[in-house]
Amino acid sequence: MIKTQILSADSASLDKAAQLLSCGEVVAIPTETVYGLAANALDEAAVKRIFEAKGRPSDNPLIVHIAERDQLFELASEVPQTALRCAERFMPGPLTMILPKADCVPDVTSGGLDTVGIRMPSHPTARELIRRCGFALAAPSANLSGSPSPTSFRHVRADMEGRVAAMIDGGDCSVGVESTVISFEGETIRILRPGFICAEELSEIAKTVIDKGVLEQLSADAVVRSPGMKYKHYAPRADVTVVEGDAEAFRSYVSKNLDSKTMLLVFGKEDAKGLDADFVELGESAEQQAQNLFTALRTLDDMGAEKVYARCPEKSGVGLAVYNRLIRAAGFKAVKV
Ligand code: AMP
Ligand code: MG
Repeated sequence: MIKTQILSADSASLDKAAQLLSCGEVVAIPTETVYGLAANALDEAAVKRIFEAKGRPSDNPLIVHIAERDQLFELASEVPQTALRCAERFMPGPLTMILPKADCVPDVTSGGLDTVGIRMPSHPTARELIRRCGFALAAPSANLSGSPSPTSFRHVRADMEGRVAAMIDGGDCSVGVESTVISFEGETIRILRPGFICAEELSEIAKTVIDKGVLEQLSADAVVRSPGMKYKHYAPRADVTVVEGDAEAFRSYVSKNLDSKTMLLVFGKEDAKGLDADFVELGESAEQQAQNLFTALRTLDDMGAEKVYARCPEKSGVGLAVYNRLIRAAGFKAVKV
């Protein structure tokens, strides 16, 4: 256990955080997607501390966060035209681009790959901190490996207090799901992880395909283009089943399968009408669902849920990001009703 300094997002605190990061320490920081666990991306020893604090497998690469678009050219050995167009449109924002890595990026940061994931957060605290550091920050989500990503400061404290040098309280994250991760194949954009920047928006830049691993559990011999896909993620303790169908079909299915420790993850109260079970609401819009999902998964754990039936989000737009997280939380267990 180490003593974790609790910092606010004021200027003096950011100087303190930048000083700790310059000394190779790990600091949890707010971003617009989820909280990140940051260290100097170019300092091997510092990056190793992130893996230790999270208990993250060493072949799962970290996203490198920058404050200005120009830093793309320092961290990537090549930036294709399509990537430049994406950067102009979506940086800063919740988009991570996988690019060939420059030699300055250590192998620990890239999980041994010859590529690096780069993102420019739009969160003012995150960007100002990167600016003050003068170096890019490697920052995976600030949760213990395998548990839901932290979208409020209370989640970060629960998972990381005593494991990192400091944490900055930036309130709740506005997006709530991790960044969209994309790679480039010639002119084509491939979505490796869906997020708030959705396929429909990326299609306006170039032809966009969604990797098979986004929607399905990859078989043991499948090509894994993004190591994060093969790990169990976002899992609450409860046994989750995604129920695909309209509200009426959902109620009808659940009513036949209820027991005393069953809880529901629904869009709104209507979905649980007439059912004798506790429930947590995600909201009706995909944006609300993205913002609330990880808190909802933690809440279900806190309520002692053993079994959870969840309504299935839309598989398009921002909904695809919610579906992708939820289906992993369910270990790909789904029923169509
Ligand atoms: P996290 O920062 O915890 O949200 O996880 C970052 C995820 O981004 C990883 O699990 C990978 O799936 C993906 N990622 C990061 N860097 C790369 C890369 N170089 N190639 C493919 N995927 C990557
Ligand atoms: Mg993560």
